[in-house]
Amino acid sequence: MINVTKTYLPPIEEYQAYVERIFKNNQLTNNGPLVRELEQKLKDFLGVKHCLFVSNGTIAIQIALKVLGIKKEVITTPFSYCATTHSLLWENCKPVFADILTSDFCIDPQKVEAQINENTEAILATHVYGNPCDVDKLAEIAQKHKLKLIYDAAHCFGVKVNGTSIFNYGDISTCSFHSTKVFHSTEGGAIFTDNDDYAYLIDRYRSFGHIGDNYLTVGINGKNSEFHAAMGLCVLPKVPEIIEARRQIFDLYDNILNWNKLIKPLVTLPTEHNYAYYPIFFESESTLVKVRLTLEAQQIFPRRYFYPSLSSLKFVINESNCPISDDYAVRALALPLYYDLAHDDVKKIAEIVNNCL
Ligand SMILES: *Cc1c(COP(=O)(O)O)cnc(C)c1O
Repeated sequence: MINVTKTYLPPIEEYQAYVERIFKNNQLTNNGPLVRELEQKLKDFLGVKHCLFVSNGTIAIQIALKVLGIKKEVITTPFSYCATTHSLLWENCKPVFADILTSDFCIDPQKVEAQINENTEAILATHVYGNPCDVDKLAEIAQKHKLKLIYDAAHCFGVKVNGTSIFNYGDISTCSFHSTKVFHSTEGGAIFTDNDDYAYLIDRYRSFGHIGDNYLTVGINGKNSEFHAAMGLCVLPKVPEIIEARRQIFDLYDNILNWNKLIKPLVTLPTEHNYAYYPIFFESESTLVKVRLTLEAQQIFPRRYFYPSLSSLKFVINESNCPISDDYAVRALALPLYYDLAHDDVKKIAEIVNNCL
């Protein structure tokens, strides 16, 4: 069976060595030595000022909203994983959708600007499939209208834009370290910022708001454990080789698939990519369904991603039209892509797709 993704597992001895350290320390959580070691190694690896390890990528967005004091309207993308919109709803903010570009499927800065009103407090954008948003234009809009800018960079571990980590963009940038992502810590996530005050608050918010015996604010439990940090510490050194293996598979798909009948996202900025996903867009949903059924008959399981368009979720009150996102979300399919997917299987998958077109 071939799934859309497969978790990278380090050699078990490497994990065991960390577990022995945890048992010796007798500290399992609450900002323990392995969490601190992972945060330091992530800062060095990524070239970011502050990195706060949290329990997942969704709480990371929620804490970002809290720290920035966002309570009203947030302009966001309809083309993302549900966690982007759900975080806003969970924090009682109002998501206002701005449609996406047909080039890279990221939020369209012009549509963002058109949605700004006196209740707008922030922009929450997703770098779709690890391809960067128009970070310069969005920064300019945020600055001009005095809005906070948050990036859901869950797809972006290892991505660089203009020579620097993509996590350095925005007031705050968040990532997911879920086991389906390029880098993972089983469950987990991180919050990145270069603002010292925000970093201090994030650290407080993820630990119930504690300062010593007392409380700065109403916090949440967003900490992560030593066991999760241990997995992260095992996976981190392998990231370059994981990304290289993904790149080769990505190139193979690029070379075989029939681009007369398919569309793929463009990368519009100078980007060092992480090859996190291999999405293709069909001419129609019916072709997508046919391809999917044909692959599934051979025990190959691609994933509709992103689907559905978040502006169509029934619990979202959506006053804005997002025809582009609605249209592309029903035609998007992510093909299997993981570090040890056999090249022969990639060829087989690409040929099955071509034969259905
Ligand atoms: C995975 C993902 C999340 C959620 O991360 P979790 O760690 O699973 O909570 C949020 N946004 C996007 C775009 C994602 O892909």
